[in-house]
Amino acid sequence: MKITFPHMGTLDIVLSDLFSRLDVDFVVPPKTTTKTVNLGVKHAPEFACFPLKVTIGNLIEGLEAGADTIIMVGGTGPCRFGFYAEVQNKILHDIGYDFEMIVLEPPMTDIKDFIKKCKKIAPKKSLIQIFHAVRVGWKKAVAIDEVERETLKTRAFERNFDDTTVARKKALTVLEQAVTSLEIREAREEALSLINKVEKDHTRRALKIGIVGEFYVLLEPYINFDIEKYLGQKAIYLERPVYLTDWISPSKNNPVMGINSDEIKKAAKPYLSHFVGGEGQATVGHVVKFAEEGFDGIIQLLPFTCMPEIIAKSILPRVYKDLDIPVLTLVIDEQTGRAGIVTRLEAFMDLLWNRRKKKLSVVS
Ligand code: SF4
Repeated sequence: MKITFPHMGTLDIVLSDLFSRLDVDFVVPPKTTTKTVNLGVKHAPEFACFPLKVTIGNLIEGLEAGADTIIMVGGTGPCRFGFYAEVQNKILHDIGYDFEMIVLEPPMTDIKDFIKKCKKIAPKKSLIQIFHAVRVGWKKAVAIDEVERETLKTRAFERNFDDTTVARKKALTVLEQAVTSLEIREAREEALSLINKVEKDHTRRALKIGIVGEFYVLLEPYINFDIEKYLGQKAIYLERPVYLTDWISPSKNNPVMGINSDEIKKAAKPYLSHFVGGEGQATVGHVVKFAEEGFDGIIQLLPFTCMPEIIAKSILPRVYKDLDIPVLTLVIDEQTGRAGIVTRLEAFMDLLWNRRKKKLSVVS
C-alpha cells in the first residue's frame, strides 16, 4: 500500500511526519502548479467548487507518482465538502486509475469505523502506537501553525525585504527534522526565535487587516496567490483565525489563536445564528470580532460557488454598516488572475489608508 493525499498549505509536512511515525509507505504529490489546476479542471464538473478541482489534480499527480491508495477526510453538514471523497473516487476511477480510497469520517460519527480505518492505514502498529503517533505529530502541527501565525505578525515590520520569508523557511525545516516530543519542544523554541530574530522597524506604520474565508483558499498559498506574503511586504499586519490545527481540532478552543468557537458563534448570532457549512458562520463572527478589536479592514477569500461563504458575503454589508469595518471579498477560481487580485488589493489598501488619515484628522 502506497498512500497519497491532496495538498493544503503545510498539510504535507504534518502528514509526512505522521505516516513516517506509523511506518506507512506514502508519496507526497508534487506541489500544486498550473499543471495540477489544469488536470483538475479537465476532469472535474465545471460547477464544482475550486478546491475539489485542485485536489483532483493533486491526487492524479500522486497516483502518477506511484501511489495506489488515497486518504481523504469526510465531513458532515450542508456544504459540499462531505461529498468530495465520493466525487474524487468516481472521477478518478472513471478516467482509468486503479486505487483504493480510504475516507476518514469525523470520529464522533462512527468511532468503530474510524478505528478500523486507522488500523487499515497502519497495520504494523497497535492502537496505542497509532494514538501516540497522532499525539506527538499533533504537537508538531501546532508548532508549525504557531510559526505561521508569527510570520504573519512579523512580515509587516521586517527591516530587510524577504527576511521573514527566509526565516519561516528555516523554521519549518527545523520543525520538520524533530522526531521526539522533546525534540519538537526544542525545535519549536528555535523555530519561533528564528522568526522573532527578524530585524524589525517598529516605527513603520502598518494597516491591520483580518483575513477570513473558506479554509482551503485561506491555507493554500498557490491558490490564493500567496496573498499573505504580498500584503505583509506592503506593511500590512495580518491576523488569520483559521489554521490547519484549528480546522482539524475537535476542541472548541483554537489551539493556535486561542479563540473559542462558542464565542465566535455568539459574535455572529445577531447576523447569522446557525451553522451553514464550512466557515460561513465563523467568517461572520470573526469579522465582528476584528471590528471590535479596531482592525482597519477585512479580506474575505472564497472559491467561486462556495455556498457557506456566499451566505457570509451577503450578510457582511450589514456588519460593515453596523460596525464600520470595510470588507473586500475576493472570489477565486481557475479563471482568476494575479493581476486582477493585486489591483483590487491596492485599491483596498488606498481606501483603508485614507480612512485612517481621516480618523486621525478628526481626533486631532
Ligand atoms: S466550504 Fe465552500 S469551497 Fe469548501 S467544500 Fe464547502 S462549498 Fe466547497
